[in-house]
Amino acid sequence: MLGRTLREVSAALKQGQVTPTELCQRCLSLIRKTKFLNAYITVSEEVALKQAEESEKRYKKGHSLGDLDGIPVAVKDNFSTSGIETTCASNMLKGYVPPYNATVVQKLLDQGALLMGKTNLDEFAMGSGSTDGIFGPVKNPWSYSKQYREKRKQNSHSENEDSNWLITGGSSGGSAAAVSAFTCFAALGSDTGGSTRNPAAHCGVVGLKPSYGLVSRHGLIPLVNSMDVPGILTRCVDDAATVLGILAGHDPKDSTTIQDPVKPFTLPSLTDVSKLCIGIPKEYLTPELSSEVQSLWSKAANLFESEGAKVIEVSLPHTSYSIVCYHVLCTSEVASNMARFDGLEYGHRCDNDVSTEAMYAVTRREGFNDVVRGRILSGNFFLLRENYENYFVKAQKVRRLIANDFVNVFNSGVDVLLTPTTLSEAVPYTEFIKEDNRTRSAQDDIFTQAVNMAGLPAVSVPMALSSQGLPIGLQFIGRAFCDQQLLRVAKWFEKQVQFPVIQLQELMDDCSSVFENEKLASVSLK
Ligand code: GLN
Repeated sequence: MLGRTLREVSAALKQGQVTPTELCQRCLSLIRKTKFLNAYITVSEEVALKQAEESEKRYKKGHSLGDLDGIPVAVKDNFSTSGIETTCASNMLKGYVPPYNATVVQKLLDQGALLMGKTNLDEFAMGSGSTDGIFGPVKNPWSYSKQYREKRKQNSHSENEDSNWLITGGSSGGSAAAVSAFTCFAALGSDTGGSTRNPAAHCGVVGLKPSYGLVSRHGLIPLVNSMDVPGILTRCVDDAATVLGILAGHDPKDSTTIQDPVKPFTLPSLTDVSKLCIGIPKEYLTPELSSEVQSLWSKAANLFESEGAKVIEVSLPHTSYSIVCYHVLCTSEVASNMARFDGLEYGHRCDNDVSTEAMYAVTRREGFNDVVRGRILSGNFFLLRENYENYFVKAQKVRRLIANDFVNVFNSGVDVLLTPTTLSEAVPYTEFIKEDNRTRSAQDDIFTQAVNMAGLPAVSVPMALSSQGLPIGLQFIGRAFCDQQLLRVAKWFEKQVQFPVIQLQELMDDCSSVFENEKLASVSLK
């Protein structure tokens, strides 16, 4: 049952093949078994069981609330959840219990979803590894998969397996791990520069960043308001479309949401790609790109071409400026956003009561990690009167150029862009932490970041396992608000590549019935 799509599970629930409580228990059991992944900061077991009970009553009466009734989901711990601690993986918000739900959370609950818990992240979503939060790093479930373990045995004998676990990518690594390890059917992430797509690629799941303005940010604790979007992590493209259909829509509490998104988000199969034009941005062929990712990328392009699609090289000439431009804009917005954490209204307050200023300073010193404080400092520098024109205003202008590059490409007839999501597969934690947070983000967001500048929809779809037995994902980028078309292309691609299911001991041990022999034994189908 856990291996099914959202629509299939929903049908099974309606037909009484499984009850919400059974589903909830199975996911809770997997959450316990995979606790070592550190995917969840808070497991809301009681809440979920209570919701399951309510859902069960509804099914018994023959009416369900909606498509997610009785289905376990998880939410990144930077979305406000009424009555459930919301920490942003920061000392600043440890113990903070919001009085309201983020709009997206409320929409999931309105459909009857079961909230399994809040997932781990980099502090305030600042990072690309899910290694920089106060609750410790998230471990990539694929580190423990049979596929990876077997390859490791072939490649080396001496290394200590347990110290060699891989990062999930980030900052929504907890959500990606939670979905990848089957502890829930779908999870919310957030995406400011790649934080949903990056961990999706590393964890072998689908990661959707919707168009900016399609999904409400109300209740998502902001990183960069002008780039943040709620992200969706699922095990297949259809599921991402189902969740997007539920979340999309105008919200009076978020003035940037558009009035009338195209609904519903059903995805009629795309059987013929011959009318499609796929753009391959030449600037994305960077020297740092691993040869394996590069080769899969060109295989994917060939796949479209062999089915009759037009595949052309395109240019996004300003893309190379996006990382430095992002740094200025991100830190500037961070400097302003983080001002709300002053120890007065909510969150941490230090013991120092010498003066108000001292209280602010010590609170923020104690509450934020080095990364957050560093960004506040940089942002305030860029916003100084003497620097504002040279940095902030200039970065805004560059942002426009980056966004226009995409507009030009789409105006020339390209339907979707096909790019890598990440430079390589997931790396071991010990490797990852050799670089600092900023250097890492600059490398890891290289293919994802410009999309946020332009507010476009993009989705990472797992394609194949590397020679090491680790997932590699590719990214599709669409025209603004053409999320549905983007997902149709992604779904076609997903069907062609048949990405294998993770073979995790925890899943196979006593949950074999859970899968009912569904696909679990499949292998890489490159
Ligand atoms: N890695 C980028 C950063 O640290 C983006 C993070 C995100 O998308 N939330 O800012």
